Amino acid sequence: MATKTTPAPAPDGLGRGLFASTDIATGENVLHIPTPFVAVLDKPRLEDTCSGCFGKRHLGNDENTLKGCRGCHVVKYCDKICQAKDWKFAHSLECGIYQQLKPRILPINARAVLRMILRSGRRKYAAEDLEMFLDLETHIKEIREESETQWQRISLCAKAVKTYSGTEMQEEFISAFGAKLDLNSFNLTNAVYDRIGVYLHPHAAFINHSCAYNAVVGFDGDELYIKALRPIPKGDQIFISYIDATNPYPVRQTELRERYYFTCKCTKCEIEASAASAAAPATKGELNLDPTIHKACTLLASASSPATSAQQALSILSSATTLLHTNSIPITTQPFPSLRDELIVSSLSLGKFQNAFAHAALRYTRTDPLVYPETGHPIRQLHAWTLAKLAIHLSQGVAVSTSTSGGSSEGAGEEIALERFEVNFSLIIWSVLGALVGGENAACTVPGFQAMVKAAFADVHREFLAGGLDPRGMGEGIKVEWGKSLGAYMF
Ligand SMILES: [Zn+2]
Ligand SMILES: [Zn+2]
Ligand SMILES: [Zn+2]
Repeated sequence: MATKTTPAPAPDGLGRGLFASTDIATGENVLHIPTPFVAVLDKPRLEDTCSGCFGKRHLGNDENTLKGCRGCHVVKYCDKICQAKDWKFAHSLECGIYQQLKPRILPINARAVLRMILRSGRRKYAAEDLEMFLDLETHIKEIREESETQWQRISLCAKAVKTYSGTEMQEEFISAFGAKLDLNSFNLTNAVYDRIGVYLHPHAAFINHSCAYNAVVGFDGDELYIKALRPIPKGDQIFISYIDATNPYPVRQTELRERYYFTCKCTKCEIEASAASAAAPATKGELNLDPTIHKACTLLASASSPATSAQQALSILSSATTLLHTNSIPITTQPFPSLRDELIVSSLSLGKFQNAFAHAALRYTRTDPLVYPETGHPIRQLHAWTLAKLAIHLSQGVAVSTSTSGGSSEGAGEEIALERFEVNFSLIIWSVLGALVGGENAACTVPGFQAMVKAAFADVHREFLAGGLDPRGMGEGIKVEWGKSLGAYMF
């Protein structure tokens, strides 16, 4: 483990926190943990993701050639190397249990708790890590009082783990493991920041939340990286965001209260709490939201529901967008950015690549610089990568407009005729990837992501040079292309 932090008591009733033990520059590792305390995949990911490297070794390689464990057939691996690694780490202890349970597969939390119980039973944890884990908050009292279903899930999981593991530990003690997992775990993500499972390490769990966070979390396989979003002076507390901090104040407070049992008093919350629009503090089940924003949030939720088809989602999202526009809600105010994210997702699933590109271009140029002011923010970097990939796709002439209207389309449900603008995608690709590679030192993305971007940029650059062009002197041309692609879809 490499860290530039030290644990210490935190002010404002935050228990313990991590503090910078030296000055940390933007993009530097605050904390790097090569081995998890526990990390397991979501059930659907067991099928398509290696349980040994969590996809790190087959990054960018979509073809699924994973081989299942011959014992339990529950977990899959790239090859013998990944299998041996996981076997040694924990799978040798759980494989027999998985076999007994066939064809049932334990829910993710139960698989994680089982792993921790089995590994601690075999004394596979370093004493220091285990001690830190045992010190973590459980909030069992609050869970029992305020969240009946969560408590039932935790105790059911404890019962199952006790039965299957044959451990001497008491159910109550196993329940505490489950509660600690609920409160202290991170979303395990892949190199492009999609959730693939759950991760916990007690050292990382000491990091407190702030909506005005100064550090961000990322994963490269099973390695955890916490990077500084801006310079952090020695002695300052490290903060990450446990939730989507772009949401309005009442939404954030409700989420933090319901899931983590605390009230956030960060600088951002203090400012927004005293602002007139959020005068009354949020109480459970009662959000003080502007009625237009509330309506748009409801539409967004219905569009994201699994019962909604992509076509339906697109039209719901379009009407929500119109609603926000009509009421002059800025495109940087939630739920506008989330609506745009969803518009991109449903356009992609319907093969409307030009729509997706137009929204991704607006997101890159207009929304993200205000919503994520730090250029190194992983979400901003990821959005740039999505845009570059879309431009690469379109430049290869894959997308054919299905629109029959021909004219410039206003509604998000229709395909936008980008070809009318004769956009030179190569220049856009070069400028987006070039900016990512150029800002690499201050970027808070994981090494796997950065390597992928670098390789793509080298390809594009080589193509330019092969064509006798050097885009480094084409600053003006790049500006013109941006103007064209945005002119296709203005709002
Ligand atoms: Zn692997
Ligand atoms: Zn197995
Ligand atoms: Zn806050």
